[in-house]
Amino acid sequence: FDQLDGEIWFNGEFVAWKDAKIHVLTHGLHYASAVFEGERAYGGEVFKLRAHTERLIESGRILGFKVPYSADEIDTATNELLSRQGFSDAYVRPIAWRGSEMMGVSAQANRINVAIAIWQWPSYFDPEQKMKGIRLDLAEYRRPDPMTAPSKSKAAGLYMICTISKHAAEAKGYADALMLDWRGQVAEATGANVFFVKDGVIHTPKADCFLDGITRRTVIDLAKRRGFEVVERAIMPEELSDFSECFLTGTAAEVTPVSEIADWRFTPGTISKQLVDDYAAEVMPKRAAAE
Ligand code: PMP
Repeated sequence: FDQLDGEIWFNGEFVAWKDAKIHVLTHGLHYASAVFEGERAYGGEVFKLRAHTERLIESGRILGFKVPYSADEIDTATNELLSRQGFSDAYVRPIAWRGSEMMGVSAQANRINVAIAIWQWPSYFDPEQKMKGIRLDLAEYRRPDPMTAPSKSKAAGLYMICTISKHAAEAKGYADALMLDWRGQVAEATGANVFFVKDGVIHTPKADCFLDGITRRTVIDLAKRRGFEVVERAIMPEELSDFSECFLTGTAAEVTPVSEIADWRFTPGTISKQLVDDYAAEVMPKRAAAE
């Protein structure tokens, strides 16, 4: 990934992709003092860019640092990079991290660096498989108590258990893993939120110890606009057999139906399909329809 062509926005400048490097004694690498975002551009526009930029700044604040650029500056840099890269549909990855000036747990003086990379990443999950539903395993690790980790920050450190869980699931032939939280309640997948359907009603775990995804909120709004009831509540794994449909939501995953979670089975049905379509329509820039 470090050998692609193009440019990366790095601390206020556009640098050649291959030259966007950092030192091995970077604090963010050793102590996970890094926060990031995942965004998608559709038709030349980043969907909900400002919401993502605000979450990046807030994630840094939660980790105790100030992102040294304003939301306007980051949005402008993102849009300029998108046009310089020449992509209309693309994935956008901003990241902010503590630099290499001091070593050790304390690194008060370290520079906060910011970079933005944009590349073509068509779909997180194989598009052909999408409507068949993907298969998830149940993860061994659980989402931590908010008293144990800053769960509202999209912090790199929180992804340690996600990568372990996803790798373990992939080794068994699954696409991803469903994670429970520290109470044993259903939480989310390793990089996406989860929804279920029972008797025409949509159920999703309350986002009280994991990321309340921008896609999650968008899909809840779309579902309500369709007249569906959406219940945010504690969901226990024992209840999974009661649900007929299941789907994931996330910037990368978009709306992705799920056919299996360990021994539980689901059939991607009318509500999942409706929301896959509604989300696809929602992310397209509205100006396209007006032109
Ligand atoms: N949970 C986790 C752990 C994630 O990494 C993501 C992707 N950012 C989400 C949920 C979904 O968030 P969003 O819809 O804002 O992309």
